[in-house]
Amino acid sequence: HCYGHGTQPMKNRMARIIIENGSLQKLPRLAKSLGKVFAMVTDQHLKSLGEEILHDLRRAGLTVNLLIVPAGETTKSLSFLEKMARSLVKLGLKRDSVLIGLGGGVIGDLAGFLAAIFMRGIPFVSVPTTLLAMGDSSIGGKTGVDLPEGKNLLGTFMQPALILMDPTLLKTLPEREFRAGLAEIVKHSVIADRNFFLFLEKNAKGILARRPALLKKMIEKSVAINLRVVRADPYESIKKTSGLSRMLVNYGHTVGHALEQLSHFEIPHGEAVSMGMVAENRVAVGKGYLKEKEADRIAALLKSFHLPTKFPKEFSPSAIKRVMAVDKKNIEGKLHFALPLRIGKARIVAL
Ligand code: NAD
Repeated sequence: HCYGHGTQPMKNRMARIIIENGSLQKLPRLAKSLGKVFAMVTDQHLKSLGEEILHDLRRAGLTVNLLIVPAGETTKSLSFLEKMARSLVKLGLKRDSVLIGLGGGVIGDLAGFLAAIFMRGIPFVSVPTTLLAMGDSSIGGKTGVDLPEGKNLLGTFMQPALILMDPTLLKTLPEREFRAGLAEIVKHSVIADRNFFLFLEKNAKGILARRPALLKKMIEKSVAINLRVVRADPYESIKKTSGLSRMLVNYGHTVGHALEQLSHFEIPHGEAVSMGMVAENRVAVGKGYLKEKEADRIAALLKSFHLPTKFPKEFSPSAIKRVMAVDKKNIEGKLHFALPLRIGKARIVAL
């Protein structure tokens, strides 16, 4: 499956996307068409996979080096960005060299940002390895790093030259990370595609067992929804509230972010989003946008993926409201929620 527009300048065109079990084998051939000198960034947990790929690329005659950074969100920082940039200079990368990012959303954001600004921008190849990165974060061209003051405060929009997804890589992903990816995928189905939601309901067991054919189909669907949203609103214009606003992907995140913050990030993002979707459904039911039966069905799917649906009692509604009031999604004094109208359709509502 390839989606691509070849004629527009690199920064604005959509990336070529390949989603296929076993597609990692194609990387040497695909890389060859992009350049001769490469650097690949990965994290410590993916060191041996990175080394295997390194050998394959070298066997294909390419000049490649591997940079390994610590795993985890704290690596998404300016100090690692600088370290990596200096390594690229030492390794002799030039404006026609290519950067490959192998890993989850942390590596995608960090290495993508580096590629976007190194010598004013070099081509980037994204090889996502988590379900979150395949179904969600690798699409849309958002890159960046965190500041001590907050997440993703520095960054840019940049489309990779190639996004290569091999769902067989998900075999080794820890269970909790896998479920985090599922939360975003359920989100996509609820905001945009009822049939996809039915597919998830029907195949929940096989998905949890990580059957490759199901994972491939699920990722394809999720990517397709993401692309529709991104194409309709490529630079996330914050005031666009009609049509397919990119803000729709914030479904579950308004309450979810508040929960993450109140728990001092003890609650993982995917679990916070799951609880957030259920809470925001309650708002939608209360306002008469969504039928209770539909809300129950969404909660049931989340449960079948072993995702939490009720938030810990210590977080009072007033504390959650207080945190939400200072959220990025607060525009001109009003909180903007992406609320489902039914499974498969959502809209932005200012409350
Ligand atoms: P992550 O990159 O930290 O990966 C999670 C963990 O899984 C890490 O420990 C990693 O080493 C490990 N891992 C990755 N692939 C593996 C594999 N195949 N087998 C075994 N272990 C593996 O986290 P994530 O959830 O992928 O991404 C979270 C990041 O994504 C956050 O920084 C978030 O801000 C960002 N994000 C970006 C966007 C965007 O549009 N750019 C969207 C959503 C989230």
